Amino acid sequence: MHTTLHDTLVSAIRNIPDYPKPGIMFRDITTLLGDARAFRRAIDELVHPYAGSKIDKIAGIEARGFILGGAMAHQMSAGFIPIRKKGKLPHETVRVAYSLEYGLDEMEMHKDAVAPGEKVILVDDLIATGGTAEGAVKLLRQMGAEIVAACFVIDLPELGGRAKLEALDVPVRTLVAFEGH
Ligand code: AMP
Repeated sequence: MHTTLHDTLVSAIRNIPDYPKPGIMFRDITTLLGDARAFRRAIDELVHPYAGSKIDKIAGIEARGFILGGAMAHQMSAGFIPIRKKGKLPHETVRVAYSLEYGLDEMEMHKDAVAPGEKVILVDDLIATGGTAEGAVKLLRQMGAEIVAACFVIDLPELGGRAKLEALDVPVRTLVAFEGH
């Protein structure tokens, strides 16, 4: 029987209740990454809409966005930009504060990672409140990037992240959605 992409991805994602704290259902993509067919299908689906368009760079959010973004960049013949937690990048950076569930953190990108006008796709494994992705959008736009889309394997629509990015005029693409937190 032919398995749909949706079923392939959903069954490859591991659900861990009450991690990292009570009430959170952690959506673990390490099982998806370890499943050659599911990993390939996820990457194929993420890059598919942009076949034939010139994308200069994929920007991945530490750490799971690096894995997905590296594979996407290779397939699209694009460059890769790491967006990292503060203090990890060795050269001159731009920094932005972003909201977490409790409090703030900061993320950074190298100042010379993107040139004005370059077309960039942002990627992470999952969008929840959208605070992390919003911070990444601010960094990229500050350096003049044109954000073509933000892509995620998993959407948690009840947390409103997609709506937050769309309000910033960032087209959002997600592959599967789960209810709840
Ligand atoms: P947010 O900034 O609220 O959109 O949170 C997104 C970031 O937190 C991503 O980097 C996700 O990897 C991580 N994250 C948030 N909620 C979950 C969850 N339920 N399962 C796995 N990762 C999560």
